[in-house]
This record gives sequence, C-alpha cells and structure tokens, in this order.
Amino acid sequence: MTQHDALDKLVEDRAKLPKFCPSWCTSGPAGHAEAMLEGCDLESASMHLSADIGGQQDEIRNYVTGEVVRPGKGGWRVQLRQQVRPGHRLDVPLLGVECHIRESATPTAYVRTELNLTTSEARKLAAQLLHLADAEDLRRYDTL
Ligand SMILES: [Zn+2]
Repeated sequence: MTQHDALDKLVEDRAKLPKFCPSWCTSGPAGHAEAMLEGCDLESASMHLSADIGGQQDEIRNYVTGEVVRPGKGGWRVQLRQQVRPGHRLDVPLLGVECHIRESATPTAYVRTELNLTTSEARKLAAQLLHLADAEDLRRYDTL
C-alpha cells in the first residue's frame, strides 16, 4: 500500500466513524477520530466506551493469627461498551467486567477473567450479589 493509498483509506475510514454517541460514551465523535489518528483500526476507534470504573481487592488476614485468609492485590474493572458496525449499525451494549485475582500459591501470578454482560444480566447479577451479601452481613444482627 502506497502512502497515498494509506491516506485515502484513513480518510475513507474516518468518514465511517460514529457521528453521534450515547450519553455515557466518554469519547464523543472527536475522541473516536483521535483514536484513529493514534493508530486504532476502524473497529476499535468506533467502539463507544463509558468511563471505566473499578476497585481493588485487598488482602484479608485473620486478625488474631495474621494468617492470610484471602490473598489480595487483585481487582476489577467495569466498563460499558458498544461496538459500531459498518453502516452505523449498533451491537447490543455490553457491560465488560474484568477481574484479576492473585493466585495464592504463586504471589506474582494472576488469574484473569472477563465477562461481557447485557444490561439485563448485569442487573440480575448485581441484585443476586447484593441479596447474598445482605444475607451474610445482616445475619450477624439477627439475634440482637
Ligand atoms: Zn462514542
């Protein structure tokens, strides 16, 4: 591909970038164009992305013995993503949940996993997690 062909392709691809974004997309049309100029291909530069939020998994030790009950230094990231296909067709928005947890046997090794959930699946999972967390945490006060 000559330099002229590459420039033609860049101009052609840039015309295919999203012109409008959902309210949660942090890129905006200018951000999608900037991603392409920074080297992202059309598919990557077109993806709508929310702010990415996350948390840290802390190490938990037995208060008395100091024994590590759960190794920490892991964490998670959550981000809403929506791929834009040719012709400005939108895929279903998905909540990407990425977790990395340190293996207890090998302190420098991490286990990573990623889930891509629909908004309905994310709501159900969040409700079920809250229900189970409440069942355990609030049980402690049942006898008071
Ligand atoms: Zn966008």
